[in-house]
Amino acid sequence: MSPASTFIWIPAAAGMTTYQLFLIVMTVSLIAPDVWRITTPLGSRPNSVHAYLAHDSSGRWMLVDGGADTDAAWEALDAGVREAAGGWQAISAQVITHMHLDHAGLAYRVADASGAHLAMGRLDAIRMVHAHENAAEEAEYRRSLLHRCAAPTELIEWAGRLPPASPVLPLSIDCLLADRTDYVPGIDDWVTISTPGHTAGHISAYRHSDRLLIAGDAVLPTITPTIGVNRQREDPIADYLQALGVLEVLRLTTVLPGHGDPITAPAARVAELIRETRAEGERLIALLGPEPLSTWRIVQARYRGRELPRPQQMQAVRETLAHLQHLAAAGAVRSTTTPDAVRFWHV
Ligand SMILES: [Zn+2]
Ligand SMILES: [Zn+2]
Repeated sequence: MSPASTFIWIPAAAGMTTYQLFLIVMTVSLIAPDVWRITTPLGSRPNSVHAYLAHDSSGRWMLVDGGADTDAAWEALDAGVREAAGGWQAISAQVITHMHLDHAGLAYRVADASGAHLAMGRLDAIRMVHAHENAAEEAEYRRSLLHRCAAPTELIEWAGRLPPASPVLPLSIDCLLADRTDYVPGIDDWVTISTPGHTAGHISAYRHSDRLLIAGDAVLPTITPTIGVNRQREDPIADYLQALGVLEVLRLTTVLPGHGDPITAPAARVAELIRETRAEGERLIALLGPEPLSTWRIVQARYRGRELPRPQQMQAVRETLAHLQHLAAAGAVRSTTTPDAVRFWHV
């Protein structure tokens, strides 16, 4: 279903200001049977993120994701939930696909407004709490990772000064979803399935009756989700390829992504993501030769001629290292690792 053909239902329009009507028309739409999409703004690209509000056959509502922790995003989400579900008291469960701030940033406001149980993937929940409670140790992890990759000193120092990448806490996480298929307490029709890679504990919501998936950032329509090294999983690229393999088997009819339009040919898109993930590995192998190279040297070769801002440099290191470690584990490239350096080569 394309946004242009989306049915907009506004029963409560009487008495609203033009601005309130504008906000609702811009942000909330019935995107699939019993599933509403609420779009909230982001301060930077990709400019917006979608939350999804699903109505189950027992009359209960599940909210999947929220938005970034800004007043503008909250206003849009609040208007959307009031319009689609009639108010926050109708929400029985809040599910967060993954810990990134554009998806989880409003979780505490949703919890306050609704009192609904909050469920998220086990590993992301653990990671989020750890990041919040151990900011200094997190900064040291980032510094040592970049140091091992031989990144420039200014990038290492910048990364050490970053604020914790976790939503406002204390946030009561009521249910840790398993790293497999799991149930959302109090919600019928839907299960969650583990879709790691983008984060270690990423989950998606799945409705078997029409094989519909609310995918967060696991499957996006036009960009390949970022996959980076993390401390919870040894091989996030393998995790992602395995998750995509599971999605292939499910023969999905539609994927509702966290960013962008619904994916109405999911099999083709999932196959494309598998190809693209493998092709990225092939491109990295082509950059290697018999001389061992640091990750930073390989990042420079990978992005030759492009000036990356620091956040993208950091992401490029994490992503390049994830691919290289995956290739090394598969025997496709050679590597040496010491506490101080990791290098890769290809013979
Ligand atoms: Zn994300
Ligand atoms: Zn996202």
